[in-house]
Amino acid sequence: MQHLIDRAAQATFLQTIDGARVATLFEDVIDPSTGAAFQRAPVATAADLDAAVAAARRAQPGWAALGWDERARQLQAFADAIDRESEWLSTLHTMEQGMPFAQSGLFVRTTAERIRIMSRFRVVDRTLIEEPARKVVERWHPLGVVAAIAPWNGPLLLGMVKVVTALIAGNTIVLKPSELTPLSTLELGRISLGMLPPGVLNVISGGRATGAAMVGHPGFDKVSFTGSTPTGIAIARTSAEFLRPVTLELGGNDAAILLPDGSIDDLVTAAAMTGFSNCGQYCAAIKRIYVPFDKVDVVAERLAAAANAYVIGNGFEPGATLGPIQNKAQFDKVCAIAENARGDGGVMVSGGAPLDRPGYFFPPTVVTGLTDGSRLVDEEQFGPIIPVIGYDDIDGVIDRINAGAYGLTASIWMSDLEAGEALAGRLIVGSAAVNRHAAFDPAVPFPLIKQSGMGVDYADHGIKGTMRLQVITVMMPGGLKR
Ligand code: NAD
Repeated sequence: MQHLIDRAAQATFLQTIDGARVATLFEDVIDPSTGAAFQRAPVATAADLDAAVAAARRAQPGWAALGWDERARQLQAFADAIDRESEWLSTLHTMEQGMPFAQSGLFVRTTAERIRIMSRFRVVDRTLIEEPARKVVERWHPLGVVAAIAPWNGPLLLGMVKVVTALIAGNTIVLKPSELTPLSTLELGRISLGMLPPGVLNVISGGRATGAAMVGHPGFDKVSFTGSTPTGIAIARTSAEFLRPVTLELGGNDAAILLPDGSIDDLVTAAAMTGFSNCGQYCAAIKRIYVPFDKVDVVAERLAAAANAYVIGNGFEPGATLGPIQNKAQFDKVCAIAENARGDGGVMVSGGAPLDRPGYFFPPTVVTGLTDGSRLVDEEQFGPIIPVIGYDDIDGVIDRINAGAYGLTASIWMSDLEAGEALAGRLIVGSAAVNRHAAFDPAVPFPLIKQSGMGVDYADHGIKGTMRLQVITVMMPGGLKR
């Protein structure tokens, strides 16, 4: 392990453009467990961006011409190479993102697995009408070159899903990870060398200005973005100038609703897994829990027990199960939301205040005594702090959730599965679940609605989002006279 940490501290991280590794400008990368810089990553210049777009444009027709099966073969080989470098990638992932090393390993394996699963999809042309004088076919073409911009909460995974979704369809891509977590993704660019043709996958890095320059670049045919809602709105606005398609995966304020006959244990397990692990920095984490008033105490106590079972520490500390919040801005936001919750009469059943140590550590926190109208209930906290909210009217809860700005996911916890499915159908969210919360499956589409985004990710729906539909009508000569 130590040799990988030393290697990470000494390595030089470069962009991958047109099959070459390049960089001229650099900026610091911060270790969230200390708050201090531990490495540097390139900042793409305007010339780097132009070169990446030009390379992607040159490479695209040849990549598309390989056909689905050969593209899939190359992508699967790339996935195997990611698995082979799993320890190295996990080390970087933990150093830059903060999560425990074992969890980073899971993220790396899941990244490879999602590449495998997504590259098995095929979008096939269809004959819509076949008559003696007329044939109408539906044909799917790659859009061309995709700009992909990823966030910091799951850097490798979220970026690479964009990559495989675009590449399997015959597009080429320019990917930019978050400036807060660029290193593991930059390494994926290096790993792709010799595995994918030059120009097919270009990885550049840089911050807000680089992202904005990508979105304003005329050489792209689509923008695929995962990140915050305000940035998503800015991207949609710029893209409208080009009438260019976008897929936006944005924020959420995902609710879990317990019914009187629901399993508290199942709900608590899901809430901890999504809302505490990775410090709740998971777009579809359970971010608020509605329970019947007489169950508030028992749910809060059991969730607090799960919270207290986490071992907080640097991601390389043996036994650590929870790392720091990824960055200072997010840490400050979580601290402010906790203060606000206290001011609104919230009771901290566990945690509640940042740890007195360097880095951005905040313990898993359970809050009762709040209701809608308080920041912790109304906003996306994106941190390890969950409110347990009492209700006495299930219809009122559904109405409150549906009236909110976001619509990413929500879950219902009850034993009557038929009634649960009916309730789930009333929630205005892209993905609703009964007795489960937002279990991502790349074979299942992930629709993005309201302030949570636009378009669909994953499965064939996601792949079609990187393609253009063409309809071709073929008439027999003289057919018009019939
Ligand atoms: P962010 O919007 O600050 O940054 C995301 C990316 O956009 C970064 O790469 C950044 O450099 C870039 N960027 C910033 N300003 C830009 C601009 N004006 N134009 C183009 N690019 C720009 O988001 P974040 O804080 O990194 O991510 C956290 C957010 O992501 C949370 O709100 C979370 O809910 C959301 N998220 C959503 C999903 C989902 O599937 N819906 C998944 C993961 C994260």
